Amino acid sequence: MNQLHIGNHLSSARGYLAMGQEALSLKTDTFAFFTRNPRGGKAKDLNIKDINQFLALKKKNRLGPLVAHAPYTLNPCAAKEDLRVFAYEIMREDLRRLEYTPGNYYNLHPGSHVGQGTAAGIEYTAQLLNRVLKPEQTTTVLLETMAGKGTEIGRTFEELAAILERIKLPQQVGICLDTCHIWDGGYDIVQHLDDVLAEFDHQIGLSRLRAIHLNDSLNPRGSHKDRHARIGEGCIGLETLVRIINEPRLCKLPFILETPNDHDGYAKEIALLRSRFQPGGGTVHA
Ligand code: FE
Ligand code: FE
Ligand code: ZN
Repeated sequence: MNQLHIGNHLSSARGYLAMGQEALSLKTDTFAFFTRNPRGGKAKDLNIKDINQFLALKKKNRLGPLVAHAPYTLNPCAAKEDLRVFAYEIMREDLRRLEYTPGNYYNLHPGSHVGQGTAAGIEYTAQLLNRVLKPEQTTTVLLETMAGKGTEIGRTFEELAAILERIKLPQQVGICLDTCHIWDGGYDIVQHLDDVLAEFDHQIGLSRLRAIHLNDSLNPRGSHKDRHARIGEGCIGLETLVRIINEPRLCKLPFILETPNDHDGYAKEIALLRSRFQPGGGTVHA
């Protein structure tokens, strides 16, 4: 089907049905949301009536997949054991709740090793995933590519591959590629998109790539800053982001905007990107 699957980050404060209605009003067919306050805290009680109304709306309008986002404070590779236990408990609870809207994604930052070193970070994050994943779970966990701010792990495709290699239920885990993060992490998607995708395929495998966070970046390549810009207003630029949505190896994935925008700003960005969607059209492949 020749359709761009695009959406943005919505507030989950008013429940699932409100998010579904907002997605439709923005002319989107997928969306992201935080499972709870992005800085952590208790999740709201699930409202089964709200969920059922949302599921009916989702089915009728072919919404999805949803890309739920874990809170930022969750650090799977924290140095302190109580923080790793906290991460495990939040994630277990989020995954349990997400089974009420089955078959979607749960996007997770792989964590910050806080001085323990990348190898230790990779071990801890893989351990947590192996502890929390269940064979019967229908939600796929997506590790996000990171900018390499501070001691973040997951800046390189090698680091993400090293986590994936350790997962005992590999079909339960994929990757969410954030364009701002890989740019800030040093990957030159502006001049060498083909090489970056080849590198991803070599290290991880493009079949593991399940979603894209489509963001421009306020900073130059390799800055490790992680400051998102609106589409076309940053250092990546509109043409590269248009090339990404039209790239035949990526064009069927869900694209999530995490750009600094209000409702109207998102509606404009979504309309702009839809107007430029022509997968494979006009591109010459050597
Ligand atoms: Fe994220
Ligand atoms: Fe992101
Ligand atoms: Zn970011």
